[in-house]
Amino acid sequence: MAGLSLRTGFVFFLLFTFHAALGFPAALGGEETVQKKERSERPPVVVTGAARRLHAECLVFDGHNDLPWSMKIKAGSSFDVADIATLQERFHTDIPRLNEGGMGAVFWSAYVPSEKGKVGVAARDVLEQIDLIHRMVRRYPETFELARTADDVVRIRKSGKIASLIGLEGGHAIENSLGLLRMYAQLGVRYMTLAHSETLDWVDSATDEARHGGLTSFGEEVVLAMNELGMLVDVSHVSADAMRAALRVSRAPVIASHSSAFAIAPHPRNVPDDVLEMFKENRGVVMVNFYSAYVVAESARARARMFEVERELEQKYPDRDEFKKAWDDWHETNPIVSGTVHDLIDHIDHIVRVAGIDCVGLGSDFDGVPMTPDQLDDVSCFPVITQALLDRGYTPRNIRKIMGENTLRVLREAEQVAGTEREK
Ligand SMILES: [Zn+2]
Repeated sequence: MAGLSLRTGFVFFLLFTFHAALGFPAALGGEETVQKKERSERPPVVVTGAARRLHAECLVFDGHNDLPWSMKIKAGSSFDVADIATLQERFHTDIPRLNEGGMGAVFWSAYVPSEKGKVGVAARDVLEQIDLIHRMVRRYPETFELARTADDVVRIRKSGKIASLIGLEGGHAIENSLGLLRMYAQLGVRYMTLAHSETLDWVDSATDEARHGGLTSFGEEVVLAMNELGMLVDVSHVSADAMRAALRVSRAPVIASHSSAFAIAPHPRNVPDDVLEMFKENRGVVMVNFYSAYVVAESARARARMFEVERELEQKYPDRDEFKKAWDDWHETNPIVSGTVHDLIDHIDHIVRVAGIDCVGLGSDFDGVPMTPDQLDDVSCFPVITQALLDRGYTPRNIRKIMGENTLRVLREAEQVAGTEREK
């Protein structure tokens, strides 16, 4: 999720309805989709039969998909309102397009806005999102099955279904309680993004005031408790110092479930090079985010302060309509370009150069972001990435790692660390 509070959620719900009525197949913030520009410097990728065959052999594993949030704000959390067995043009994600994309495993995001932490209902809201994911898996049993382990992922994929895992986005959902963290693990949560757009009592966000120099001692306890549970520590959205602290403290490989490379696109939410080097040491995985504002350098600069601006405008305009107008105006005066699939591959190349081939994966952020690069329009796009990697000279073995084997590996290694911790 790129950053839409619950309050703005309703505004966007109206926006979607409006855009849907106009026939725009847009996701969040349709106004940005309209601004999408064709960039002609590098020609579009053409997917060949060879790439399709290789793609079909890959475990395609998306580290972050926000369909549960889209279901909540666009369909009232009802699969009767939005039956994803059929094409849902308002979404990036539905079953026909997941199948077209050759999807094998997905971390569905159980996202709860930062502001919920302040009013004490974060736990309730995140439980509703976890429930939504469980309901989705039960409703479409021929397509999905809940995966709790790496072995589950392999078995489910072999059966032709999509292994469905739960990733919890943000740490405010534990309401400062390790008991809640343990209960979420019981419900199938396999990673937790430590923070979202706002700094918590124990961890600094990348897009808010840093108050702790990264993690507090309780923050370190959270990381170690996650290690014991076999829950992956996700450093997307946290400050670079918090990333460094988590990588220092964690006994298991760490992930960034949906983050790109700061050196390529300087958004504060992206991962700087010294942290990429720590990922190499830690054997963790950075799963590249597809949002144009995190992928294209000029767009990253234009959107660097978006979370702060959103907060400022919400405070300045308590009235929803006034806020919406100001927020839309800000987007209009700060237009961004969408970029192309080549821009995304630049991030993969960079992470491979700095952290190594074992430390990169994919975390699309589909259904959580308003604009994606050309040819990365929805979950059907993944074969284009396989082709683009082949075009850049990646071997089939390394492409399999990037598409999902690296993510599967960290899941397995986190389970092994948890097993060792329990034996102590
Ligand atoms: Zn996010």
